[in-house]
Amino acid sequence: MGLVWAEETAACAASALDQLESAVSAASPVATPGSGLSWVRRRWPRLTDTVNLPPLDVDKQQVPSLVNPPSTYQVDLRALTCSCRQFHGSGIQALPGKKERLCRHLRQAYAERGNVSPLLRTVLLDEVHFNAADPWWLGEVEGVPTAIGWREGDPWVCVYTQSGGWRRGQAMFLRYSFHLDRAQWLEGHQPRQNAKAIRHLLSEWFHDPSLRG
Ligand SMILES: [Zn+2]
Repeated sequence: MGLVWAEETAACAASALDQLESAVSAASPVATPGSGLSWVRRRWPRLTDTVNLPPLDVDKQQVPSLVNPPSTYQVDLRALTCSCRQFHGSGIQALPGKKERLCRHLRQAYAERGNVSPLLRTVLLDEVHFNAADPWWLGEVEGVPTAIGWREGDPWVCVYTQSGGWRRGQAMFLRYSFHLDRAQWLEGHQPRQNAKAIRHLLSEWFHDPSLRG
């Protein structure tokens, strides 16, 4: 578990650094179209978000605050509502079924009580990387459940798929980061079973043959 956390932290730090780099360059006058930079050059995919989180027929529950553990929020998975500020500020505007509707408390409750796949549970519980506004694709690549998320302008694509390892009799899912401009996995850390097929998929989505490697 320590190793997994270390890898995820490294990916996060690298992504944050890159975003900073991107922000600095974007503000600079040299970032003109044709400069080869991801956020001006790339054609971003127009795929339908395949994450669907319909209401669940379960009782209301209290979910502890992550920031202030003694306090709790009331989560209703039937109506897909939460008493927190995040939900009333933004989630409430999204239709039930859309992931944008779920605040962190709804995501946590949903991951625990909904009949969700281990893959979707991993994605929903990733408090560090999950962003409801990012498009997410869930499916199978070479028969292996895989989730891919991206953000327009951000060269890092987020991939969750089976690591090849097992925990308590269940296949483990890990997060991997792929850089579109460098056409590389972060620190060479790539999925064991379907890395090549994922690169082919990204190559099609992003109209970029160089991503095949
Ligand atoms: Zn909430």
